[in-house]
Amino acid sequence: MVRIDRMALLTFIASASPLGRRALLASAFGLTRHVNSVTARASSGFASRAFANYAAAAAGGGVVTAAARDGNRDLSSSSSSSALCMAMTANVDESVKDRLLASMEVTHPSYEVIEKDVVTEYGSYCVLYRHKKTGAELLSVATDDDNKSFGITFRTPPEDSTGVPHILEHSVLCGSTKYRTKDPFVRLLQGSLNTFLNAMTYPDRTCYVLASQNLKDFYNLVNVYADAVYNPRAVKDPNVHAQEGWHLELEKKEDPLVYKGVVYNEMKGVYSSPDSLLSRESMRSVFPETTYGVDSGGDPKKIPELSYEQFREFHEKFYHPANSRIYFSGDDDVLTRLEIMDGYLVSQLGYGDFDYWAGLNV
Ligand SMILES: [Zn+2]
Repeated sequence: MVRIDRMALLTFIASASPLGRRALLASAFGLTRHVNSVTARASSGFASRAFANYAAAAAGGGVVTAAARDGNRDLSSSSSSSALCMAMTANVDESVKDRLLASMEVTHPSYEVIEKDVVTEYGSYCVLYRHKKTGAELLSVATDDDNKSFGITFRTPPEDSTGVPHILEHSVLCGSTKYRTKDPFVRLLQGSLNTFLNAMTYPDRTCYVLASQNLKDFYNLVNVYADAVYNPRAVKDPNVHAQEGWHLELEKKEDPLVYKGVVYNEMKGVYSSPDSLLSRESMRSVFPETTYGVDSGGDPKKIPELSYEQFREFHEKFYHPANSRIYFSGDDDVLTRLEIMDGYLVSQLGYGDFDYWAGLNV
């Protein structure tokens, strides 16, 4: 598979003159897109585009692990194209085909159907729904794969390097209205039948992804994640922000006060790696004054500038249904997908005084 060394490319672009930089950038991103579309080989149709957008949030297994490792340094969707490559071996039996085709006719009173498409290369029968009351989009992909996957992605462009999207990514998995344990994520990692369970912060979006081959386990994981993102304890209990973001600690009276926090410590580790410093500096110089020029992961020097109020506001602004993209894939029942998510989406009506539709253009 063609692989673009993004790091080398960025460093090269950063060293060019402003005009040359713009030209190089245009061609670089054109090239990346081209490679992705060639690799995908799913020429037109919304499903292939949707795949490219959603794959990072949906593929499950090793591919997503690679995407997670790239973490907030992932610039293009090259990980998505490897996901597509892996999925291309899918072959659907004639007998199964009828069932998958029939699943494309499933409707639900709370949703309107936006688009339908069959991606034969992947044996994927796709329907894009929009939740009428909230505007949330749900891409439902019916396949013959018993490894069912689910993802919610929110557009979360940061304006500074306080790491608010990253701290929120950690924090929403620290308990919610329905699942009150303080660390459901850790418990599920140890005690569920998941084949993938994680969350990733990118420069402009945050993805919550899971997969399981066991139907009951899958539904359980979907419920925990959906309740976590929409109704987290973190927006009611300042201790979560303190624990995951930053707080001051004093071991002995005579010791100096020191900053601590899960993300704060994680990012101190990241900032001690020369590779990541170079990558960050490249992004900052190539994309000054844009969301890509700041660090969604959090600069340890800036993380303590984030107040609990700003943290809460970020959740209120971006973690609402119209700003989410929901994804299901696998051999589970399509109507149940719509039913489960309808409950969570409706519960979000009236959260904050946010105008859902205006929010799309923020
Ligand atoms: Zn982290």
